[in-house]
Amino acid sequence: MDKILNKLEQYCTIEYDKSFKTLTTFKIGGLAKYVIYPNDEFSLKSILDIFNENNLAYKVFGYGSNILCGDDVYDGFIIKLTRNMSNYYFADNQLIAQAGCSIISLAYKASEKSLSGLEFATGIPGTLGGCIYMNAGAYNSSMSDIVDSVKVIRNDGIVWLSNAQCQFGYRSSVFLHNPDWIILEVKLILKEGNIIDIKNLMKNRQKRRLETQPLNYPSAGSTFRNIGDIYAWKLIDEIGYRGKKIGGAMVSEKHTNFIINKGNAKASDVIELSNQIIEKIKEKHGIEMIMEVEKFNWEK
Ligand SMILES: Cc1cc2nc3c(=O)[nH]c(=O)nc-3n(C[C@H](O)[C@H](O)[C@H](O)COP(=O)(O)OP(=O)(O)OC[C@H]3O[C@@H](n4cnc5c(N)ncnc54)[C@H](O)[C@@H]3O)c2cc1C
Repeated sequence: MDKILNKLEQYCTIEYDKSFKTLTTFKIGGLAKYVIYPNDEFSLKSILDIFNENNLAYKVFGYGSNILCGDDVYDGFIIKLTRNMSNYYFADNQLIAQAGCSIISLAYKASEKSLSGLEFATGIPGTLGGCIYMNAGAYNSSMSDIVDSVKVIRNDGIVWLSNAQCQFGYRSSVFLHNPDWIILEVKLILKEGNIIDIKNLMKNRQKRRLETQPLNYPSAGSTFRNIGDIYAWKLIDEIGYRGKKIGGAMVSEKHTNFIINKGNAKASDVIELSNQIIEKIKEKHGIEMIMEVEKFNWEK
């Protein structure tokens, strides 16, 4: 492994034994043995070649705001684009940005240019790459509304995919079915708007989140997907789980589709609580709940 690490160091910075508590908004999980920050796109290509030649496991992380990491050690490589692959520029009403950009900061930059379209993302604590991966959205808008094309690195090289080729759906895209693809860059099409209206809408969205979401506790946002028109929070409320606690994990009193980390929660606490919710809702309504939060490094 030393030889491989020496080779990798030409193309990235490597950090060792980082807790997933520092790599996710849930602040839960064991250790990531290797976390790498590629120098740039070309370095990433060389890194992937090394991983493939040596059959090494890897996983891209944005801000880890939709991931629940298991409590064990992960001895593959976590790839983070947030340090060196987070540049962007505007060309008229287009925003071209690298996947490691914060979507919140892009929303603010766009608003300063009087460009509308990203207001919905004001409170989504993810990277552009992570938001494309699961077609993040809120308030009846989602990334798919503003994506022109997405640049991806795959086994066959680097390609641009059109909006249609991304196969966006409710919290889904072609990327969910191709976990070895890495999103590098995105072209967004925004609309010219009125700067005061844009800023007011963003402020209102923020205010509404603060009023309705438990943002003072670590979480990964909504735990379950809504089922068509049926809200997950309502189903959880109906089984009497508001405030239900297992270990350090608790169903938020403020928003029942948020499981919060009340302090030192283990992944197993969250999973036990989620499993109970799934079972009870199945019993009561015959509905199969689907987790929106992704489980990673979890074998059970
Ligand atoms: C308080 C709070 C509020 C939230 N509100 C919302 C909301 O309103 N709407 C919503 O949709 N979500 C919401 N979320 C969930 C989360 O922010 C989004 O899912 C976001 O898109 C995740 O982005 P990320 O960069 O943190 O991705 P991560 O959680 O790091 O990763 C998620 C998935 O994306 C993949 N991925 C990340 N980057 C890349 C890349 N460059 N290439 C390929 N795959 C990649 C990862 O491998 C992983 O499979 C919320 C979360 C929190 C904590």
